[in-house]
Amino acid sequence: MKITREFIHRMPKTDLHVHLDGSLRLSTILEMAEEQGVRLPDNPQNEADLAKSIHMGEICADLKDYLKAFDVTLSVLQTEEALYRAAFELGEDAALENVKFLEVRYSPLLHTRNGLSFPVIVEAVAEGLREAKRRYSLMSGQIICGIRHITPETSLRMAELCVAFKNKGVVGFDLAGAEADNPAKDYKQAFDLVRNNNVNLTIHAGEAYGPESIHQAIHVCGAHRIGHGTRLREDGDLLNFMNDHRIPLEVCLTSNVQTRACKSFESHPLPFYMSYGLRCTINTDNRLITDTTMTEEYWRAVQYFDLNIGDLRKLMIDGFKSAFMPYRKKRTVTARACAEFDALVREFEVAGGAKFATDPRVAQEIAFQKASADARTPQVYAIGAEDSSAYEVKESPATGAKESAEDELQDAN
Ligand SMILES: [Zn+2]
Repeated sequence: MKITREFIHRMPKTDLHVHLDGSLRLSTILEMAEEQGVRLPDNPQNEADLAKSIHMGEICADLKDYLKAFDVTLSVLQTEEALYRAAFELGEDAALENVKFLEVRYSPLLHTRNGLSFPVIVEAVAEGLREAKRRYSLMSGQIICGIRHITPETSLRMAELCVAFKNKGVVGFDLAGAEADNPAKDYKQAFDLVRNNNVNLTIHAGEAYGPESIHQAIHVCGAHRIGHGTRLREDGDLLNFMNDHRIPLEVCLTSNVQTRACKSFESHPLPFYMSYGLRCTINTDNRLITDTTMTEEYWRAVQYFDLNIGDLRKLMIDGFKSAFMPYRKKRTVTARACAEFDALVREFEVAGGAKFATDPRVAQEIAFQKASADARTPQVYAIGAEDSSAYEVKESPATGAKESAEDELQDAN
């Protein structure tokens, strides 16, 4: 039985690399421009005009060319209402395709044109995401970005903001923007500040520059995850280090083709990384500008790389495992995602009258993954009265030896 789009749409997912300002709805940009009296470049009259104006889904000359579309989206993201709405709608769009955990990134630096202060910006986005949680039980967190082509001092301001909002909606720090000519080490002060305050760090690297950029992100800046890492395959030694240390890659397939980080889907390193054992996650990057969804990203991976149900399950698990979420909570959420995935497999197999997994490689992969899940003793988690989500759990008390065995199994994968 073949994997279908419907199966992917319904399976639980994460999106750990998605830019707020690259993921608005076309209709929302037009409405906001109208409400705010903002004149958009090229004066688009409808969604089709606007899509053309921002080169939605088109192959760009390079990353710099791709980043031009943000001039349009940022022109309408300068008010609290607009930021709230953009965050809520991004959460809604993700939740409606069964994304369970969403990490939304943006730089408050880019939203101050009309005088908004940094804390007001972070609060507006947080409120939008809280509304998505209330309506859809979507778990989420914000990642605050420093920007490579703006001065390191301003990135340090972003790092300070990130630290101030730690545990108040913010889960990590990132460095985004034009990678070539702007090495991450120039922003080291910002990275040191966030890491000294035990804040998670991810850095865009190996997208528009070579593996040296990834090396610097990990060893000089201390990144816990790497955004893209498309060119990691050019440095086998570093690839092994990342594999050995289970440093996750935030893979954004379609975006990589669009920015020419990769010539084509067929030449993308994802299948090689997966076969080598790297911890790979699937992400959208920019739902609007790349014209994609989580379902679309997984669907393309399945089609171009002939992934089977075991591969899909592994990618899903790696998404949950790589989330900037407290470990104990993450363990529970990952186990629940596996249970939901397996129930969905059974449902589709019954409805389709055939089994998904037939070749020995697939059976072996699923058996290995299930060995981890099945070995866990079911635990009762108290679900908060205010929260109906089956995924949102209160942490259980420590359970001694049994727990350390679970930890071992969880980490083995
Ligand atoms: Zn990105």
